[in-house]
Amino acid sequence: MDIFDLTAHQLADMLKKRETTAIEITRSVLERIQKVDHDIRAYVTLTAEQAIESAKEVDDNCKEKISPLAGIPAGLKDNICTKEVRTTCCSRMLENFVPPYSATVVERLNQVGAVITGKLNMDEFAMGSSTEYSAFFPTHNPWDLDRVPGGSSGGPAAAVAAGEAIYAIGSDTGGSIRQPAAFCGIVGLKPTYGLVSRYGVVPFASSLDQVGSLTKDVRDCSMVMNVIAGQDSKDSTSAPVDIPDYTSFLTGEIKGKKIGVPRELLDGLDPKMADTFKKALKKLEELGAIVDECSFPHAEAAVPAYHIIAPAEASSNLARFDGVRYGHRAVPEQGKDYDLVEMYMKSRGEGFGPEVKRRVLLGTHFLSTGNYELYYLKALKVRTLIIEDYQRLFREYDVLVTLTTPDLPFKLGRKIDDPLALYHSDSYTIPVNIAGLPAISLPCGFVDGLPVGMQVIAPAFAEGDLLQVAYAFEQNTPYHKQRPPLKKETAKGSES
Ligand code: GLN
Repeated sequence: MDIFDLTAHQLADMLKKRETTAIEITRSVLERIQKVDHDIRAYVTLTAEQAIESAKEVDDNCKEKISPLAGIPAGLKDNICTKEVRTTCCSRMLENFVPPYSATVVERLNQVGAVITGKLNMDEFAMGSSTEYSAFFPTHNPWDLDRVPGGSSGGPAAAVAAGEAIYAIGSDTGGSIRQPAAFCGIVGLKPTYGLVSRYGVVPFASSLDQVGSLTKDVRDCSMVMNVIAGQDSKDSTSAPVDIPDYTSFLTGEIKGKKIGVPRELLDGLDPKMADTFKKALKKLEELGAIVDECSFPHAEAAVPAYHIIAPAEASSNLARFDGVRYGHRAVPEQGKDYDLVEMYMKSRGEGFGPEVKRRVLLGTHFLSTGNYELYYLKALKVRTLIIEDYQRLFREYDVLVTLTTPDLPFKLGRKIDDPLALYHSDSYTIPVNIAGLPAISLPCGFVDGLPVGMQVIAPAFAEGDLLQVAYAFEQNTPYHKQRPPLKKETAKGSES
């Protein structure tokens, strides 16, 4: 395997034994980007020079002793603010925005000597499931370049899968880490709401957003969590909880663990997907877990409730982009002037793409007098019912397991004109955000040469349990070791 194909923990071991250097690793990743990114298009902004500088610093100051992430190249979703490095949210609105400060996650990574290679593509303002709503260009799935990498963290997922970053940081409001991780055959963790600081991460829907990791395996995921988790005085929603060493949960042992499988999420599955999932459940049983079907009665209501709550919050969060406080300002033709309202309307009209406009309009509609009770309050009641479903289930089960998404990565362009089809591709991930719980997606097989992800969900702040189950499964299956062939032809036998 080439250096860029290795995991962070393999590279950290090599650094410790002096078998490689941070510079060598960073060069390998940057060369890989040079070689494949014109096909994948994961990067929006490359910070090669700064990356080399950080790598040098690690090599000169033996920083690898501070953290296993020292000297390891990572990419960031482009809604995470980076001081003096353009942060666009892949929107024309922020095309030229250069933040004067870095997000807390970035500060934490910098403190341990991480090497940041650049900013990664996403759906505009994290609204989408395919990265086709990026205002700049779509990203391609490394397993089949004609297919989407998922979204909204499609850039981060594709970069990690293709060896263009050893790991990446993303955000997940309704599935944006887990769904692209599943589509790209890697591991994605959405932590418990409040576990990782969101300070400096451009908000989409503040009661749902959470920052998390995209990695090649579960050990890397634990290592990244060790660095980014923990309370931050700059984020009032961050939780005052003790952070354990997440790698200590990687025992490989899951005998007697009780696993619930919501039967409502098995209905109507494609037979090949269902078969892959069944095999994965069997493997968990072989490893000593007790796997049971259970009922999650309000599962079906999660997507509609989400698509009221998320746009409502988004319409309020995005009000700041008015061409005055933040963002693109429309310029009138020569000799003409805009009055204030005209200027707002033109600036927002030019700055936002179609999906963002749709959400702002919907959100404003749901929050307007009369509709507030009709939609928004009702959605909040559904939210409570979903939270209660989970509470009941976690009295009986240690974790719940589902597929991460009902579908395989689809062809570019196939769902772009059908927002409802796109919304439903998140039906397994959205309930988790509604309840603020942690969930991980990890590879559990292949269908027609394309990766399939399995989702493990745990009670709030029980990331350790997630990692324990995920690690045991991963260590007893071969899928996480497979790397994409990076071929242009369509995966055989699959047309959808
Ligand atoms: N795909 C979902 C949406 O479009 C979730 C996005 C996300 O998690 N940021 O809202």
